[in-house]
Amino acid sequence: MYNLHAHTFLSDGDLLPSEVAVRYQSIGYKAIAITDHADYSNIKPISTSIVEFCRKWPKDSAIKVLPGIELTHLPPEQFKPLASLARKIGVKIIIAHGETPVEPVVKNTNRLALNADIDILAHPGLITDEDTSLAAKRGIFLEITSRHGHSQANQHVVNQARKFKAKLILNNDSHSPEDIISPDKLIQVGLNAGLTQEEINKIYKDTEDLINRRGGKYAG
Ligand SMILES: [Zn+2]
Ligand SMILES: [Zn+2]
Repeated sequence: MYNLHAHTFLSDGDLLPSEVAVRYQSIGYKAIAITDHADYSNIKPISTSIVEFCRKWPKDSAIKVLPGIELTHLPPEQFKPLASLARKIGVKIIIAHGETPVEPVVKNTNRLALNADIDILAHPGLITDEDTSLAAKRGIFLEITSRHGHSQANQHVVNQARKFKAKLILNNDSHSPEDIISPDKLIQVGLNAGLTQEEINKIYKDTEDLINRRGGKYAG
């Protein structure tokens, strides 16, 4: 079981990366990505820290920890340069903080993020036909989330992904200990969004492929 979206106190989470990893491991997760919020002010220090943390994480651990980042509330034209900077530093999982219905996210964020070198468009809100088809074409995952507020658009995202054959991912977006829910509860979020068990199996297969493709030595 996997969750490729988790925050630590490198941004607005409550816990140290080690504690996040240990808590996920203790409830049965096999791989996570640490994906703290970044913009031009902090991308270099937090990417460098998280890459170093993941490189030092024991390779024989029961949980793989991948270095990630969540590009958040950027002026949309900055998604491209910041995604490429994060890749250069060694970040493997790049998330863009999409047009959630519960925050004033800048217009065209979904579109410009989907044109950058990202892996996952998080909480894309009421994503349009054009943007869903762009995600499908570029192989970028659209996120179904357990996060309160952001999750209001889950059903819309499922319907759009079906219509345009875009890939989905089930993520936790945890910030605090109480957000670190079990794999079963995360699957329940998917079922509540209207996914079938068969579609959920496909999501985990696609997620595993992403972990193997991007994770390299971290994915073991
Ligand atoms: Zn976000
Ligand atoms: Zn997040």
